[in-house]
Amino acid sequence: MTVKRFDVVVAGGGSSGVPAAVAAARSGARVALIEQTGRLGGTPVAGLGFPICGMFLADYKKPTLVNEGLVREFLDASDGEVERRGRVQLLRCSGEMLEQIYNAWVDAEPNLKLFTDVDDLQVFSNDGRIESFRFQGLELEAGAVIDCTGRAAVAKRCGADLLSSKNPALAGFILRLSHVVPNEMLPIRVPHLLWKTAESGRLPAAARYTVFDRDLLKVSVEPGADAEALALNIFSVLKAELPEFQCSEIVETSTGRLEREGVRLKGTAVLDEQSVRSGARFDDAAAKGCWPMEFWDAEKGVLYSYVDGDGTYDIPMRALRSNTVSNLWTAGRSVSADSMALSSVRVVGTCMAVGEAVGAAAAKEAA
Ligand SMILES: Cc1cc2nc3c(=O)[nH]c(=O)nc-3n(C[C@H](O)[C@H](O)[C@H](O)COP(=O)(O)OP(=O)(O)OC[C@H]3O[C@@H](n4cnc5c(N)ncnc54)[C@H](O)[C@@H]3O)c2cc1C
Repeated sequence: MTVKRFDVVVAGGGSSGVPAAVAAARSGARVALIEQTGRLGGTPVAGLGFPICGMFLADYKKPTLVNEGLVREFLDASDGEVERRGRVQLLRCSGEMLEQIYNAWVDAEPNLKLFTDVDDLQVFSNDGRIESFRFQGLELEAGAVIDCTGRAAVAKRCGADLLSSKNPALAGFILRLSHVVPNEMLPIRVPHLLWKTAESGRLPAAARYTVFDRDLLKVSVEPGADAEALALNIFSVLKAELPEFQCSEIVETSTGRLEREGVRLKGTAVLDEQSVRSGARFDDAAAKGCWPMEFWDAEKGVLYSYVDGDGTYDIPMRALRSNTVSNLWTAGRSVSADSMALSSVRVVGTCMAVGEAVGAAAAKEAA
């Protein structure tokens, strides 16, 4: 077995993992980035491209960034337009564009070694500390570790304390459609039809919260449901009932069921709903969040709750460090937060900023 030593090992090359690895490498650390699939970008790429939320202050006329650093670099490198939706603004960005920018960042770092297609990651820990990882005949010894798998995969494997919710947010499954006849009323007519169909019992209740946005059908899925079968069922209802969909075809699907909320790391602090709502400030702030809490509830649909004050809140570093495993950090969807707080922190713009902050902090500690 070949043994290599890295100051920082980042697991998961998605929304938060790439910024974490790049920031650690730019701080001078020798960094390994381990990704399960063959592509960087994570959920927004798997989900065929999302508008990036959590970059801009709410209620401002001019798009104003909440965090600088890699978020600013991303904005400058992307060709996406900023779109206003009610009080908030977001960056339109294709999955390809996000992947391209992330690849360019990683390629530019000589201190950063990328390992892709790693589906057999083993974690070895001793005395409250992760010592090494093994996969594909390699052993990587780790100084600091950042779990950016979006599902606390490393935290689970090393026995760290975890958080989970009894009623997690709805998951998603996405279809890209062609040959839909354009009609500006479709974003209203699609959920209306699905609402009626769900009321009649032909579709599960969560199908009511499916969204049609440009060419993407974003299907809402309850825990345990077969996401792909439900999406195909909904598509057949649309084809049969709405003339605009009669000749439509599925050209692409998400790589699988996409979880909004899953198991996450328990930190030395837990960011809670009240802290987000009140715009709390912390001495150990890693980054700022600004997206309203956007909880996809199985019974009530999407529940929005805005942040008070200047519309921002601090994400404390203590919510990004394990309370039991001394060299384990996290970013992205696995941060230590309650369900409602997570529904704000998990958006891609915030994942980038938190990833960057944790990457720099972990590199400093491992030096
Ligand atoms: C249906 C849906 C719609 C959304 N819409 C939006 C939106 O419009 N705008 C927005 O800003 N946000 C949106 N989000 C939220 C956002 O996409 C995610 O919360 C965010 O991408 C999470 O980032 P992350 O870095 O934690 O995880 P991810 O981006 O999912 O990255 C995790 C990475 O870790 C890898 N990985 C997993 N396990 C392992 C392992 N064992 N070993 C190695 N690698 C591993 C994965 O392959 C993946 O590449 C949406 C989420 C969902 C589910």
